[in-house]
Amino acid sequence: MINYTERLSALMRDVVSRVPTLQFIDMSAVLVFARAGRSDADGPFATCHCLTLPQSEEGYYFWRDRTSGRITRRSEWFVTKSPTVVIGGRPMKYMISFSLPRFCDQSLDRTRKEKYYPGADPWLAKLDTVIHELYHIDPEHRGIRRIEREDGTYSANCHGHQFFEQVADMVTAYLGTRPDPAVYDFLRSDFDTLDRRYGGVAATTFRTFPSFPQRYIERAPTQRPCEADAEGVVIEPLRLTTQPSHYTEADLQTRRFFKKSSARVVVGRRARAA
Ligand SMILES: [Zn+2]
Repeated sequence: MINYTERLSALMRDVVSRVPTLQFIDMSAVLVFARAGRSDADGPFATCHCLTLPQSEEGYYFWRDRTSGRITRRSEWFVTKSPTVVIGGRPMKYMISFSLPRFCDQSLDRTRKEKYYPGADPWLAKLDTVIHELYHIDPEHRGIRRIEREDGTYSANCHGHQFFEQVADMVTAYLGTRPDPAVYDFLRSDFDTLDRRYGGVAATTFRTFPSFPQRYIERAPTQRPCEADAEGVVIEPLRLTTQPSHYTEADLQTRRFFKKSSARVVVGRRARAA
């Protein structure tokens, strides 16, 4: 079977070694994993997840009565935290997830990207996504790269109007360095072709699949009154997730992906007669 996320990691290592804008990225602190995403359903092809955001300030949720507009309930105080993901003793700073098989079946045809690649091969859409996600990594590791506007302030949108053009320039720059085609050739094939050729498409996932490490909330150590408090306002206990907050390589698992499902790959286990 082809391990798709391993191929993507190797490609990303090659890209960051050849594209000056991305050279600051240390791929040994970036974990690449797969999520489920059908080719015939809408959704992202890939996502960049930051693990270095600091703990949030304390906050609470509140609910208003629809007619009177008065606050009727609020949650306990909480903070939001990033999970830790430590692979081989190394804390990961970012994760990049790819939706399979959707990503494998991506094409340039009739997409927003097409105008940046006139007459190009359809598989370039996939290389564009790979570089797009790498470009979201912030050089100062303060979350997702902020886009500076012409007036020097930062845009609230992480895709400024030049973002897509800059990504396309990096795709061209990368291919212009004449990388070994063996590094990116797997992008040329769609999911069915890879599945036939390699006898399966596998990828790294989390044991908690389809869930994966995400920001989570934790009850604040001290609970104090707040502005929302008034006569009759009920303070509700937080509903906390049961997801782990710390992950290691023991939480990773290889899964084989199919058109509409996936299954865990059990390696090296043999049936044994008693
Ligand atoms: Zn993006």
